[in-house]
Amino acid sequence: MAGDGIGPEVMVPCLELLNAVVGKFDEFRLAFDSVPAGATCYQETGDAFPQASMQTAKESDAILLGAMGLPDIRYPDGTEIAPQLNLRFDLGLYAGVRPVRVIPGLPPVLADPRAASLDFVLVRESTEGLFASRGKGEIDRDSEARDTLVITRDVSERLFDFAFRLAEKRKAQGKAGRVTCVDKSNVFTSFAFFRRVFYERAALFPEVGAYDAYVDATALNMVRQPWLFDVLVTENMFGDILSDLGAALLGGMGMAPSADIGDEHAVFQPCHGSAPDIAGQGKANPTAMFLSAAMMLDWLGDVHCLRACNQASELLVMAVDTAYREGALLPVELGGRSGTQDIFSAVATALDDTELTAAAQGG
Ligand code: ATP
Repeated sequence: MAGDGIGPEVMVPCLELLNAVVGKFDEFRLAFDSVPAGATCYQETGDAFPQASMQTAKESDAILLGAMGLPDIRYPDGTEIAPQLNLRFDLGLYAGVRPVRVIPGLPPVLADPRAASLDFVLVRESTEGLFASRGKGEIDRDSEARDTLVITRDVSERLFDFAFRLAEKRKAQGKAGRVTCVDKSNVFTSFAFFRRVFYERAALFPEVGAYDAYVDATALNMVRQPWLFDVLVTENMFGDILSDLGAALLGGMGMAPSADIGDEHAVFQPCHGSAPDIAGQGKANPTAMFLSAAMMLDWLGDVHCLRACNQASELLVMAVDTAYREGALLPVELGGRSGTQDIFSAVATALDDTELTAAAQGG
């Protein structure tokens, strides 16, 4: 689903890279279906998310998404078109994975040298929390408005288990392997419940450290000492806000990949929106799209027990890192001159040159 604005601009080179990286392996192939959804689709057909597109998405092994929504194309009630939110709710994609990994070679956002190798992951619950109220908010007599935050045991348990398993995987890769529950349990009953369920599930993962923090302190520490974080897990609205802060630590939205993962389906898309202000100018940074595709390969590898697919993911990440290290790339978004095509070419060249090194073959 390429979507709107810069979505297709970052999707086209991404598919080319995916084909190139998969071509290095004999063990598997990817087959792509391209389906319409989003604001342009709504403008052209009156339907933002055709049933056939949803059906194809459901039948696919994974969903790769560019960006959807345009501020000038809205539903009659004024709300924006966001089929990506429908996907999260309808497919039960409760675990929003937002890695915050600084690519070596990019200008530092924070002055402290420890921030040059930031590598933590924010897991944002993506189907309930304050977003449970989406489309259901109330305004009484134009004097009082209400939206209700919902935390369920069922989704929270699966969310926390996901975060603990992710920390286990990171620990096996030599990273810290600890999970911090981010909440506001000192004020709200719903968050006190969220934290209680967190520690119940933590007991099932004794090898992984379990910690907690308030969301306000976490915002402070994401700037003050983010190198202390490993896996953060939080509610939908808090995660929405903190993940943009995470993208800022990487230099911009075009550097921030993401995945929305459920028990049966998963969507992989850059954190950014359709960025209509730069669409059609060749300025869109496709890095987040490429890294989201790498997350897709890694997830497919895990789900299908296909080590070659995990290796393809590692190769793609290595190619991105190499392009930034050796190619002196600086995206327009970060104040440089590298446009979509420059970044794609540098990563494609790096991929050509990247063979299965010990790093990619190990494990
Ligand atoms: P949404 O609400 O759909 O998430 P948004 O309003 O938060 O979207 P984005 O589309 O994410 O906005 O863009 C925010 C800003 O970041 C814009 O000024 C845009 O130019 C810039 N931006 C976003 N993505 C990229 C990218 N891939 N490359 C370069 N600049 C980008």
